[in-house]
Parts: sequence; C-alpha cells; structure tokens
Amino acid sequence: MPTDRLRSIRGMNDVLPEDADIWSKVDAVVEDTVKSFGYEEIRLPVVEATALFRRSVGEFTDIVEKEMYSFESRDGESLTLRPEGTAGCVRAAVQHGLAFNRMSRLWYRGPMFRYERPQKGRYRQFQQTGVEAIGIASPALDAELIEMNCAYLARLGLSDAVALRLNTLGSAQARAAYGAELKTYLQARRAELDEDSQRRLDRNPLRILDSKHASTRQVLAEAPALDAFLDADSKAHFAELLGLLDALDVKYQVDRHLVRGLDYYTHTVFEFETAQLGAQGTVSAGGRYDGLVEALGGRATPAAGFAIGMDRLVLLCRAAASSEFWRGSPLVYCVAADSDAMGHMMRLTRRMREDVPGLRFVLDTEGGRLGTQMRRADRAGAQWAIIVGERERQSDKVGLKPMRELGEQETLTYDALVARLASESG
Ligand code: ATP
Ligand code: MG
Repeated sequence: MPTDRLRSIRGMNDVLPEDADIWSKVDAVVEDTVKSFGYEEIRLPVVEATALFRRSVGEFTDIVEKEMYSFESRDGESLTLRPEGTAGCVRAAVQHGLAFNRMSRLWYRGPMFRYERPQKGRYRQFQQTGVEAIGIASPALDAELIEMNCAYLARLGLSDAVALRLNTLGSAQARAAYGAELKTYLQARRAELDEDSQRRLDRNPLRILDSKHASTRQVLAEAPALDAFLDADSKAHFAELLGLLDALDVKYQVDRHLVRGLDYYTHTVFEFETAQLGAQGTVSAGGRYDGLVEALGGRATPAAGFAIGMDRLVLLCRAAASSEFWRGSPLVYCVAADSDAMGHMMRLTRRMREDVPGLRFVLDTEGGRLGTQMRRADRAGAQWAIIVGERERQSDKVGLKPMRELGEQETLTYDALVARLASESG
C-alpha cells in the first residue's frame, strides 16, 4: 500500500456535509426563480469538442489562450472540459432545432473548469447556473434577464450587497469600427500597456478595456469612447432597456468600459458585482450575443443570457445571511432501547418518514445501552429522540425526549407523536 495520502486537485474543492445545506438552499432559490420566469432546464455534457470553445469564446481570450483543460481523446480528437456553459447550450440548441423559428428560454447548471490561479472566489472547478434566451431580439428580454438576477438576489437577502453595471457594445459593425479606432489609439501608447494587453492589441483590442492593470487603465481613461460609434438602432435598444429598468425600479450604473470576455457579445453587457469578495467581486455576468448562433452553424438568431458564479453567491450568502436561512430540517433520532425492539423501531421509522415529510429521521442501527445511544443522539445534533423499549411496545406507545432544551421524556400514542412532530416542524 502506498503511504502518501491522495488529495484533491488544487483549485478543485470538496463541498463537505456542513457546507452542503447552504449550497442546496442557494441552488434551490436560483432554480425556483428561473423556473418562475418560465425558463426550461437543459442538461449538457461536461466535455465538448475543443473547436466549440475556440469558435464561440474566441481565440484571443484568457479562457482559450490559457485556461482550458484540453486533452486528446483515445481516438485523437481534441476535447475540453467546458470552461463555461453558453457555448454548449447554444451548440445543443442549434443541434436539436431549439434555435430555429422559435423562442427558447433555457437554463442549466453544473461545474465549469478553468486553469486559473486559485484564491478565494476563484477556483479551477467552479459551479455556474446559467440562463440563455434564444430567438428574442428585444431590449425587454435584456431587462427580463436583469430582473431575474434582481429576483434571486432579493430572495437571498442580497439586494444591497450587489450592484449592477451595464454597457452597450452596439452592433457587430459598430464594435468593429470602434475596435479599429481603439487599436490606432492604443498602438501609439503601446509601451505603456501591460504584456497581455500588448499581445491583444493586434487581435482583440476591445478585450483591453477589461484590463485590471493600473498602467493600462490609465491609458484607457483617455481612450476614445464607444458612444460615438453606436448606430441609431444600437442607441435605441440601449435607451429602451434603461427605460424598462427605470420602470422596474432597478438601480444601475452605466459603465462605458465594461466589456465581456466572449467575442460574440453585441449590444447589452452587464455584471452584478459586490464589494465584499475582494477582486473576485463579479457574482453574475451576461449580455446579448446576437452573432453566436450563426457562428456555431445555425441561422442568424438573436440570443442573450447570463451566468451566475455560484461559489461566489454562496460565499456572499454565508457572509450576509444567518444560518437559520439555510439550516437543514430538524433531526429526529430513533432509538430501540433493547435489541428486540429494533424491527418494531424500523417499522415505526418507516411510518414516520411517510407521515412527517419535513423532518429527517436517523435510526440508531448500532443499538446497545440506552445511555450510549442517547449520547450518539446528542452528538448527531438531534432535536428529539424517539425511544421504544419493552414498556412502550407493550402499551403500543412511544417515548419522545427533547434533546436541545430541558424537558422530560413523554409517552405518547403514535398519532399524538405525529401531530406533535408535524406542528414543531412547521
Ligand atoms: P472574472 O473576471 O472574475 O475572471 P469572467 O469574466 O472570467 O470572471 P465569466 O466567464 O463571465 O467570468 O463567468 C461568469 C461568472 O462565473 C463570473 O462572473 C464569476 O462569478 C464566475 N466565475 C468565473 N470564473 C470563475 C472561477 N475561476 N471560479 C469561480 N467562479 C468563477
Ligand atoms: Mg476570468
């Protein structure tokens, strides 16, 4: 037997039982929210052809240049662990005809993989829940996507912890014209840019707007603005969106420097950001990508969506909400006081699980002395112990003992027990 201990891969974390409750809660709130907007779930593979991400995310992006987990499959095909969900979702929509002559409102969730420097809020395996609406061109859809974010944030009590920034990149033509102008401007000040930005200058100058380097940011502060390149339709789309957000009382800040990593973004881009997670402040991000469906082989079809970084949302929720909010349902510990009572106790536990669905019932399968079993009930964090011994069996009753507060053991009929547990479980 090898003696070195096997450990998880750096940046790929276990979620232990003590953390699973908050994950379940946050997942459930987001799921309920997106379903309440009529979005339908789509389940997608974790592995896709590498070419998919090269074509959709774009060659000259952080993700494709240096963050993908790519490998050669046994038959020599290049495959990649998905770094994000939009590409696979749109690929599936095109493949199965969900992006043709109809409106599709889809949502997905699952692990994503990026080779990044792990730190708080940034991991190599992380969890996203994403939403993609395909076949809808209107600014009202953009407003709906933003509203959906506001809805789950409100339900998690995070409305004040997160702020919305948004921008428009205009049409593909406006973007291209602005890109050329920006390139000319930046080329003149190339030496002041950081290394990544210098490299991107030739290929993907818009991405430089996103840079976090101080020197680059300084150069950008004086750069020409995108506004001047926006055509009338792009301006109207954005103005209508802002009007709808006002009508919905959604607070926002227009940030002319906001761009998104994907190459195919057009028109609206947005981010929900918090100050509470340091540099990893973006909790949810998205926008419109009217060019993507066509780039992946479908007919030209408008589309828009967003992805929530669930790890960051959970971190934020843990900091902001009390544990009451996500704690699992109360635990009932079931004790057979003598070995003859085990079969009886198992039948009783089976009935209680049916009759009081909101609770968790753990059966002490080890049995043994009553005192030992009660210590195990305490350690398990039980709210109540239910005890059946010789006496209870004879009288067809059960013993109920509160574990978290002072109180004597009571002897009850089964019906009285169920009524009591049901009322206390809420
Ligand atoms: P960042 O600027 O933080 O690197 P990004 O622009 O690369 O984010 P997107 O591709 O837009 O991120 O993904 C959407 C969301 O997924 C992000 O806003 C973030 O909440 C989350 N996310 C992205 N990368 C990671 C990661 N490595 N670990 C945890 N969450 C992540
Ligand atoms: Mg990133």
